Amino acid sequence: MIEQQIKAAIRDIPDFPKPGIVFKDITTILKDHALCESIVNAFIERLGNKQIDAVAGIESRGFLFGLTLANQLGVPFVPIRKAGKLPYSVKQKKYDLEYGSAVIEMHTDAFEPGAHILLHDDLLATGGTVMAASELIHDMGGHVCGFTFIVELGFLGGREKIVPVSDEVIALAV
Ligand code: IMP
Repeated sequence: MIEQQIKAAIRDIPDFPKPGIVFKDITTILKDHALCESIVNAFIERLGNKQIDAVAGIESRGFLFGLTLANQLGVPFVPIRKAGKLPYSVKQKKYDLEYGSAVIEMHTDAFEPGAHILLHDDLLATGGTVMAASELIHDMGGHVCGFTFIVELGFLGGREKIVPVSDEVIALAV
């Protein structure tokens, strides 16, 4: 089953990026092309025939599967990047981190108002990043029609934060 395959492939890195954190390293998934294909197929299957006008992926690991997913769905891919990386005119959103804050940006012509946007990232932890991204999409007139993650760290409660935005929360390994 896909969940077991993902869990077996992921590598736990203790004390990264700082002491006390066990980081889930998903780069090991990327070495297995059959598993990468299964992951995209599992997302497609679970999404069914939902209306999706574009897939937005969050820098940087959200780009890896976000683009493939968009290509498979036959819709545009929209990169959401950290401040100062996108070259065209941008709209931004500031959000709080455990210590300090961060800013994410999207091109102002990323999608048309009213578009149904599927938001993708590699991993759901506290939900702070993806909430900021969904607020940015909302500010730009988009509708977040669902979320996809490869991994969800269920004990951090991110799902409770994002369910009010869209009850379509797909995580392949929890
Ligand atoms: P959140 O904002 O707390 O939900 O953190 C999720 C964001 O941090 C995502 O963009 C992830 O890529 C990244 N992240 C947090 N923890 C991990 C981890 O253990 N492995 C990989 N990425 C992580």
